[in-house]
Amino acid sequence: MATSTRAAEKKVVEATPNQLYIGGEWVDGTGRATLDVEDPSTGDAIGSVADATPEDALSALEAAHATQAEWAEWAPRERGEILRRAFELMSERADDLALLMTLEMGKPVAESKAEISYAAEFLRWMAEEAVRIAGRYQVNTTGKGRILVMRQPVGPCYLITPWNFPAAMATRKIGPAIAAGCTMVLKPASQTPFSALALTQILIECGLPAGVLNVITSSSSSSVSEPLIADSRLRKLSFTGSTEVGRKLVEQSAHQLLRVSMELGGNAPFLIFDDADLDAAVEGAMIAKMRNIGEACTAANRFHVAETVQESFVERLAERMGSLKVGRGTEKGIDVGPLIDSDQREKVQELVTDAVDRGAKTVVGGERVDGGGYFYSPTVLSDIPDDARLLKEEIFGPVAPVKSFEDEADAIRWANDTEFGLVAYVYTRDLGRAFRVMEGLEYGMVGVNQGIVSNPAAPFGGVKHSGFGREGGFEGINEYLETKYCAVTF
Ligand code: NAP
Repeated sequence: MATSTRAAEKKVVEATPNQLYIGGEWVDGTGRATLDVEDPSTGDAIGSVADATPEDALSALEAAHATQAEWAEWAPRERGEILRRAFELMSERADDLALLMTLEMGKPVAESKAEISYAAEFLRWMAEEAVRIAGRYQVNTTGKGRILVMRQPVGPCYLITPWNFPAAMATRKIGPAIAAGCTMVLKPASQTPFSALALTQILIECGLPAGVLNVITSSSSSSVSEPLIADSRLRKLSFTGSTEVGRKLVEQSAHQLLRVSMELGGNAPFLIFDDADLDAAVEGAMIAKMRNIGEACTAANRFHVAETVQESFVERLAERMGSLKVGRGTEKGIDVGPLIDSDQREKVQELVTDAVDRGAKTVVGGERVDGGGYFYSPTVLSDIPDDARLLKEEIFGPVAPVKSFEDEADAIRWANDTEFGLVAYVYTRDLGRAFRVMEGLEYGMVGVNQGIVSNPAAPFGGVKHSGFGREGGFEGINEYLETKYCAVTF
């Protein structure tokens, strides 16, 4: 991938809509205000988008509500065809979409391109699901009458997405909502609105009717969200983001008893047993830790390694981490981009300092990288004390803490010693052990001998404070469908 020119960067931003999309029209917010979008590798603004007011949010909901009944009657095949065309157009435009994403989010362009492909796959998968929504026909147990079970769209949805995967977190919600026949209001993160706006443009070009998808960008997420969540026209809330915000939104949605899906924070343990293929474990560790600069809910947050192989693992991991090239994600050969903002970088530094102050050893990295932007050096810490905060808190940065364990029971105990339960990784060549550990882990997903689990064909989601509901797989569309039972006598 060649380094992009400033002219090419300017062109992709300028080609992207920067207004609100309500009822099939691009409009300025009623407050006429705009919101700057920053390049985290320089701290400079790359452009600005409309800043929605609560009135704009309610207009968007009104459009979704007004379109719902008609949209629900569209042929499933037609809904699926829109998704299929959007999959193709996203794939065609992958280079421009990837550059746009890197400019607003920071990850290297190659990684952005991988996200575009992952995001588009949700549209393809849901295009196939749209025509497979089934119900049930059953003769009553008494022999008299029939039981009929129908699956119908939930109704207007509010979708809130985070900045770390600006395209995939959107298609993971928009795809099943379209497939199921729901209308929606999407609110992307204020730091990465362009990717969602470019995706909206693609869906429009692929024939999505006015009012089905409405998009609001805003600098004040709570003030635009509260009136929507309190409005009885809204039927569902799907949120991806931090546990802290998710908890608030669940409380707010209790009033309307909304259907709620919550994809929240993680604290993934990465377990390496003494029988593991250590080369494969290091490879998997690099993916699980460094995908998205460590800013992934699925990021390996802590490595728990069998005592006998710990030293060798630390040495190999440190060598790989130390050789990564940090820099602006638009430049050739860059492995690690900047963190999203200075707050995030400060939090990472704080967690590293806390661990080191309590006795951890810095094997490599452990510091901010000077210059513009929010860069942090790939870091490996060993000898992590039991009370280090980074064992409990989501790091969201390129820091790999390594801690040893004594035996299988100890490994499972450490792995489960967290309020989170999104994903865990296990490396072992012993099949019996793999099953015991998989079954013992209190997580929504487990990667066995692989450092990545994300897959549009599989149900993504967590337990405990990592939330509830599943996205992708056969399960994903269920979040957007209601079950209606009809008792029929004739
Ligand atoms: P965040 O601060 O919770 O923000 C997520 C989204 O919620 C953004 O659109 C944000 O808007 C909005 N928001 C913030 N406060 C709100 C409020 N009071 N009412 C309504 N909306 C509100 O999370 P983040 O920092 O963007 O993302 C990182 C977190 O997401 C991590 O904890 C990560 O683990 C989690 N995550 C989970 C998954 C998963 O599938 N489980 C996937 C990706 C990320 P603004 O941008 O305007 O603040």
